[in-house]
Amino acid sequence: MTPILEIENVSKRFTKKLDAAGKIAARLGANIREETVHAVDNVSMSIMPGEVLGLVGESGCGKSTLGRVVAGIHPPSAGQLHLDGTPINDLSAQDKRRANLDIQMIFQDPSSSLNPRMRVEDIISEAPRMHKMVSGASETSDFVDDLMRKVGLDPVMKRRYPHQFSGGQRQRIGIARALAVKPRFLVCDEAIAALDVSIQAQVINLFADLREDLGLTYLFISHDLSVVQHITDRVAIMYLGRIVEIAPTDDIFSTPRHPYTRALLDQVPRLDQRKQDFTPIRGEIPSPLDPPTGCHFHPRCPHATDLCRQNAPQLSTVLSGHMASCHHLETLGV
Ligand code: SF4
Repeated sequence: MTPILEIENVSKRFTKKLDAAGKIAARLGANIREETVHAVDNVSMSIMPGEVLGLVGESGCGKSTLGRVVAGIHPPSAGQLHLDGTPINDLSAQDKRRANLDIQMIFQDPSSSLNPRMRVEDIISEAPRMHKMVSGASETSDFVDDLMRKVGLDPVMKRRYPHQFSGGQRQRIGIARALAVKPRFLVCDEAIAALDVSIQAQVINLFADLREDLGLTYLFISHDLSVVQHITDRVAIMYLGRIVEIAPTDDIFSTPRHPYTRALLDQVPRLDQRKQDFTPIRGEIPSPLDPPTGCHFHPRCPHATDLCRQNAPQLSTVLSGHMASCHHLETLGV
């Protein structure tokens, strides 16, 4: 089967240019230079149609940036994306427009991602009207009603403004807005993190129902491992811009191979353990302005050797469908 989306050697860097004062100071010999954040570093992976792939990592590891690159919000600095086996850059203008609609993003904060001055019916119908997917007042009204029902909202509320809804309802509006252009792929960026725990479960169930009804594929970005374990088919673990392990969800949670994945899982409290010794990952995630040489995890890894400090390990297959990037997978016995 052809992957719906293939990410091929994608990197994303952000460069902070020098302002006028900085340029003058640099010309006068001050040790000032442009700063480059290496947010995503040579990431490759594929997502199959109908799959839910979790993308997990600490804050600042680059997972949201990768999500935005996938959703077409940020162009990659290097590498490319393939949709249904074709590089998106090679598509005709018309197909590229459709590809942009095919991949939609659900944001973390429903309050700030909805225009407070627009009625819900206009928020939901804006993009389909612009792309001439609906026309006329009656068709648009039926279209909005249908979408609101699909995400569990009563259409009688469609003339209200976002502030008249609860947080969970606002996230449902955001989901309806994304679905309005008939996407095939949703990038959910911490889409439930801002919601109360009881509401989180409802929205997770909604994502599962929509996957079933509409055949959607998801890139589910989250720092919450218990949610990821519940909803995903496979999980990719990201550390400082790189994917360090990717495997079916059950394998990641039962037999994690990479020392970073093991450290992340060690921090999750488990009901089946009477006593939980929390072993926080030592140190802080290094700055993406100046990432460590070799394996990015080496300053925090208890198993680091000179090889780790000098050479970046590549992702390699440890079991069918299970890949990890570590020089010492075999000798560590992890
Ligand atoms: Fe640790 Fe070395 Fe493996 Fe990196 S390559 S995770 S530093 S053992």
